[in-house]
Amino acid sequence: MAKDALLSELAGCGSAETLLAAILNHYPDIRAPVHVENIARRVGITQVRDLPEQDFTSSLLVDAAGRTGIIGCATALSPQRRRFSIAHQLGHFLLRTQGHDGHCAMRDLTENRRDTPHRKQEAQANRFAAGLLMPKPLMAASLDSLGKPAIAHVPMLASTYGVTIEAAASRYVDVTPSTCAILFIKNGLVHYARPSRSFPSMAIGRGDAAPSSVLSAKIDEPTSWLVAEARDWLVQSREVRSPKVSMQVLAKKNGLHLVMLFINAAAERRADEEAEKYATERPSFGRGSDRR
Ligand SMILES: [Zn+2]
Repeated sequence: MAKDALLSELAGCGSAETLLAAILNHYPDIRAPVHVENIARRVGITQVRDLPEQDFTSSLLVDAAGRTGIIGCATALSPQRRRFSIAHQLGHFLLRTQGHDGHCAMRDLTENRRDTPHRKQEAQANRFAAGLLMPKPLMAASLDSLGKPAIAHVPMLASTYGVTIEAAASRYVDVTPSTCAILFIKNGLVHYARPSRSFPSMAIGRGDAAPSSVLSAKIDEPTSWLVAEARDWLVQSREVRSPKVSMQVLAKKNGLHLVMLFINAAAERRADEEAEKYATERPSFGRGSDRR
């Protein structure tokens, strides 16, 4: 039976990535928004119920044999956070890793560090949740059809996939082939900075004051691409030329600014090649011309 085949395949998976591959393999026609509760029920979650506690966003209760579980979600959660919480707890259930006492706090749902066993488990549950709600093949196709990165794509994707803007932004930089970063600025301070794999080391992180150039955008009107000061955002090095950085800002209500930084990697490669060619053709430039 298909259900048994999926369950036995999942039982042999030890990471978020192998679990996702097995699930996607069994749902080849998966579409956005992903029906996370249906998938949870198919793999052993018998109930998703309201959680009365105020201190936790979600919980997981597993039976003694570890075969079935009940997920609880705080009633105050938005539909997007509720979906992410269910996917996160499903990650704990399938990975056999539970949060503290089977409960997870709001901060656990944005954890991406792996420096303690607890954070590692939470980060893994989050990778699973993001990959389940925004499957890589679907997200890659969405980004491809949207074309060149733009900050306005992030709320669009959040709406398509039924997730928060934060979750869509994190997944965006995970999946995009472009060299870009997305930052959340709250009341002038960096709340999150999420760079894509190829983005250079950032000089700015959580808790740092954002450059003042960010804070003048009008609410819900994305700015055009602006020239950004590389030194405001990137670690500087004497040996390496700073790339040209473009910036787009989308101001939201409640003092939130979304910033997208973009580097045209192909143009940067061409500029490096030109600089190298120039240096090779004019080896005596500088000191040589002084000696004349
Ligand atoms: Zn958790």
